[in-house]
Amino acid sequence: MRSHSFLTKDSANSNHFLDSQGFRVENGKQERIIKGLPASGGIAIGPAYVYEREEVYVSERILTVSEVELEIQLLAEAMERAHVELEKIVSFARQKINEEAAAIFESQLLMLSDPQMHKALEKRLRDERKNADFLIHDELEKYRAIFGAAKDELLRDRMADLDEVGQRIMRNLQKKRLHSTVEGEHVIIAEQLTPSDTLLFSRNDVLGYATDIGGITSHAAILSRSLKIPAVTALHGASKDIVTGDMVILDGQHGLLIVNPTEEHQREYARKIERIELLEAELADLVDLPCETSDCHKVELSANAEFVNELEFIITQGSNGIGLYRTEHLYIAKGDFPSEQEQYIEYSEIAFSMYPQPVIFRTFDIGGDKLLERGVSEMNPFLGWRGIRMMLDKTDIFRRQLRAILRASSMKNIKIMFPMISGVAELDEVLAVLADVKNELTEELVPFDEHMEVGLMIEVPSAIFVADELAKRVDFFSIGTNDLVQYLMAVDRNNELIADLYQEFHPAVIRAVKSIIATGHANGIWVGMCGELAGNPLATVMLLGLGLDEFSMVPSVIPEVKKIIRSTSYEDAKGVAETVLRMPVASEVRAYLESYMRERYPHFMATLLNGENGDNGNHKLDGEHGA
Ligand code: PEP
Ligand code: MG
Repeated sequence: MRSHSFLTKDSANSNHFLDSQGFRVENGKQERIIKGLPASGGIAIGPAYVYEREEVYVSERILTVSEVELEIQLLAEAMERAHVELEKIVSFARQKINEEAAAIFESQLLMLSDPQMHKALEKRLRDERKNADFLIHDELEKYRAIFGAAKDELLRDRMADLDEVGQRIMRNLQKKRLHSTVEGEHVIIAEQLTPSDTLLFSRNDVLGYATDIGGITSHAAILSRSLKIPAVTALHGASKDIVTGDMVILDGQHGLLIVNPTEEHQREYARKIERIELLEAELADLVDLPCETSDCHKVELSANAEFVNELEFIITQGSNGIGLYRTEHLYIAKGDFPSEQEQYIEYSEIAFSMYPQPVIFRTFDIGGDKLLERGVSEMNPFLGWRGIRMMLDKTDIFRRQLRAILRASSMKNIKIMFPMISGVAELDEVLAVLADVKNELTEELVPFDEHMEVGLMIEVPSAIFVADELAKRVDFFSIGTNDLVQYLMAVDRNNELIADLYQEFHPAVIRAVKSIIATGHANGIWVGMCGELAGNPLATVMLLGLGLDEFSMVPSVIPEVKKIIRSTSYEDAKGVAETVLRMPVASEVRAYLESYMRERYPHFMATLLNGENGDNGNHKLDGEHGA
């Protein structure tokens, strides 16, 4: 495996030895350093909690005729208990977490109450005279065979929900105790976490997430960055070798998980945590300062968001608004497209909370890695019915969203943008729908911002080559590097087997970014970036020098990027961009940017890049002004 390796470390300490495989053994415990992918920065030290979905085991029994009626009654009672349990979870989620979380369990409640399922089970019980838990297990197996291996995420998610509901009924039939929750501070170790697992665990004293499967631009990873919880992914089966209670260090900057760390490593990482805390305290002082270079070139720093409960944190990070509000979660939480009114309520709340700062709502980007429409199966969802393509086929749903966004725009701090635009004809079609919806609202005397800025994401390579025509039709571009890199390089953004081929610093990507910005500017519009590259401190000076006007990123990195921009001159940044544009390979670009940043900001980059050699407590950036 490309990204999987075990590292060993020798030392002259006395209370350890190296075992036959070269692993270091200290006080009877073997230290193992497992290399994965860095999904969310920061360091966590603490006991592991190995999270496994608890399965209920069943065996097949043939019932006598007289046992059948009793079994039907026991099944009804088990379902009733499952109902009560789920209702409690929904109300807990609503009070302690948020509406989105509650909606997930509400959809399970709906599955549980499905009269068709009740009827089908009862019929099989009478016809086949088999025990209820076996029949439920058998039904689940049938669904699993159809949906479990589905490529589309929505079907797999629905299967996971159905599985959970089935397990709950079986557990109640067998009168087994419920799955325990995590108590106390832990690093969660799991084969895989969904975005909702990520959100739910964050409400406990979770220190970090380590998963066997997943990519760094998956939504679970993006969510852990938003929540500022360190995370490492693509650990290739690590969860199988760790037991709950094992001491672990999770290094989210370097994508490392250290199991049973030596005392030396624990001390080293405790020092790193101290350094990061010092740096964070210093960065906090920047919140109210403008984002401008030392020679007064101003840029906007905004946040990527997808949940209302992130707004408070975004405001404290000193952003200039929201540069990308992903709206898909409304669909995910409900399991269907939300009504105009549901959307209007959410969009207005966001616009109101952020006012007077702007919020850019992106219309639904369903498909690809973000769920597919129910019942749809595609060979290649990333190249399939996704984003704007789906919305142009489902214009009633698209119009509903446009109406909700427009209605929420009357305070004049909302902008809208469209994902996955590939060419002019598509954009014209979108703009015609938008114009029609505006006319409709005007006729209905519904107020909205008639001058609301309209933009599009540049994330499909074909859009780069017609960017001049696209720019004439909109007010801004926002470069979506997460998709742009995967489509330019033909590298699936979530496939860890080829993760090292997913190169954001590839010259093709950098030249594409340069061309998009230049074309935007030549046509008088501003150009932002909302892909993960915008929040990568290593890329900041280069992007600044390429002329990017707006950087939109997970809110937790805004202070770091602001600090770099405030301590750089625009002239220097342009020089860096020119140098980088002459480089033919990604590794050269990376090496140059790393050495440039290390030389210029040694203490800062020591903490950001590798945590080494930065332990003198001096985190002031050279040349920084006014901070
Ligand atoms: C992108 O593609 O860069 C982007 C920001 O959108 P998403 O990650 O939601 O596809
Ligand atoms: Mg995208």
